[in-house]
Amino acid sequence: MGAYNAAQYPPITQETPTLNTVSFADLKLAPEILKALTEAGYSTPTPIQAQAIPVVLSGEDLMAGAQTGTGKTAAFALPLLQQLLPHASASTSPAKHPVRALILVPTRELAVQVEESVKMYAKYTNLRSLVVYGGVDIKTQTPHLKTGVEILVATPGRLLDHIEQKTVLLNQVQMLVLDEADRMLDMGFMPALKRILALLPRRRQSLMFSATFSDDIKKLSEDFLIYPSLIEVARSNATSENIKQKVYLVASEDKHALLAKLLKGDDAKQVIVFTKTKLTASRLTRQLQREGIAADAIHGDRSQLERQQTLEAFKQNKVSVLIATDVAARGLDIDHLPMVINYEIPHAAEDYVHRIGRTGRAGASGTALSLVSPEEERYLVDIEKLIKTSIEKEQASVPHAPRDEARPQREPREASEPRKAYHKPLPNKPAHDPWFDQPYVPKVTDPAPSTSKPDLPSAKPKSAIPALFRRSS
Ligand code: AMP
Repeated sequence: MGAYNAAQYPPITQETPTLNTVSFADLKLAPEILKALTEAGYSTPTPIQAQAIPVVLSGEDLMAGAQTGTGKTAAFALPLLQQLLPHASASTSPAKHPVRALILVPTRELAVQVEESVKMYAKYTNLRSLVVYGGVDIKTQTPHLKTGVEILVATPGRLLDHIEQKTVLLNQVQMLVLDEADRMLDMGFMPALKRILALLPRRRQSLMFSATFSDDIKKLSEDFLIYPSLIEVARSNATSENIKQKVYLVASEDKHALLAKLLKGDDAKQVIVFTKTKLTASRLTRQLQREGIAADAIHGDRSQLERQQTLEAFKQNKVSVLIATDVAARGLDIDHLPMVINYEIPHAAEDYVHRIGRTGRAGASGTALSLVSPEEERYLVDIEKLIKTSIEKEQASVPHAPRDEARPQREPREASEPRKAYHKPLPNKPAHDPWFDQPYVPKVTDPAPSTSKPDLPSAKPKSAIPALFRRSS
C-alpha cells in the first residue's frame, strides 16, 4: 500500500486547515478497524478520509468530489464497515448475512480493487464482502452470494444479471455507494443504475463519489441523495501539484521513436503508456516488444484473467511498460507509479486528469509526459484550459536512423517502408468492443485529425465541483 505523506499532499479546502493532524483514532473508528489500518501501514487519514468519515458515521448522505488516488476508497469503506459492525455475526447461516451495503463501481478492475480494500479493512470483523462483475461465468459467483455477504461490490450490469436470476436480494440494503459516478454515467450505466436504485429500500444512507461534476452527476445526486453533505478534496479538475507535466511537440510519425527513447531513460522503470484506441495499443506493444522492451497491453480482447495477470506482472515489475486505453486503465491502483506517458492525448480533457492521476498518488511524486502532434494541439488547448495550467513544452528531437536499423532483413518489407506504418490512418470506424471503446469513442464517426472537433460525450462542458459546493454549502 502506498505510504501517504500528508505534507506532500495538495491542499484541501480552506475551511479545514487542521485536518492533517487528525488521527484515525480521533475519527472514532472501532478498535478492530484501527487494528487493520495499522497493519496496512496507514498512519494518518488523507484529507478526504478526515472529512468524509465523520459525515458517514453521522448517518448523513454524502456527495464527495475526489479523484482516485486521494484515499477515497477508505473514506467510504471504513465508516461503512463501522456502521455495519452491530450486524456482524459469526454465524454460518446465510440468513445472518444479508447484503447490507452495496458498492457500485464502473469497471471490473476497480471492483476488484475496492473489494480487496474492504476485505483488508474488515479483516478483524465478522463482516463478509464479495465482488461480482461481468466477463466471467455468472455461475461461479452464485454459490458465494448464497453463503451470504454484508458488503457487495458490483458493476451495474452484472448486478442486474444476478437480480434477474434472483441470486441476490437487496431488500436489506441500508448503505449505498456510487463510486466514480461520473465514469458510470460516461459508460452509459444510467438506466442500469436507475433500475438497481429502484429496488433498494428507501430508508438508506447513500454516498456518491465523483472526480468531475457534470450536470448529469448533479441531477443524479439530486435524485438519489437526501440533503447530502458536500465535500471536496483539491480542485476536481486540478492535477496533483506533485506531478511534473511536460509536453513533447512531435510529428505523429516520429512518436514511436521518441517513445522508445523516453522509455530508455532512467526514470522510466515502470510506465503506463496511454493510447486512444485498442488498435494503437496493440500495434505499439508489438513494436516495443520487438525492440526488447518488456511491454504488454491491457485490452478488451483479452479475458479478465489475462488482464489481471498482465496487471500483476506490471505490479511485480516483470512488465515495465503497460500500454492501456482510458477504459482499460480506469481504477488501476498501482503504488508508486513514477511515470505516465500519453502517446496520444485524449480528446476529452477530463480523461487527461484521470490518466495522469495514475502517477503522483497519495503524496508521491510523478512525471506525466505527453507526445502531442500538430493535429492534437487543439486538444492540448482544452486540457490546459481545464487544468488552468500551461504545461511546459519542448520541441522533440527524434533519432530516426536507429528505427530503420532496428528492422533488419527479418522484416524486409517493413524495413523498406518503415514510415508507412506510422502514417497509417486510424480506421474510420471505432472498434466494436463495447468494454474497451464505448465510453471514449464518440458515437459519431472517429474524425480525421483535421476535421472539426467531434461532439464527444465527455467533452461537454462540465461545471467544476467547487462551484457547485460553493453554491450549495
Ligand atoms: P484510493 O484513492 O482509494 O484509490 O487510494 C489510493 C492509495 O492510497 C491506495 O493504495 C490506498 O491503499 C492508499 N491509502 C489510502 N488511504 C491511505 C492512508 N490513510 N494512508 C496511507 N495510504 C493510504
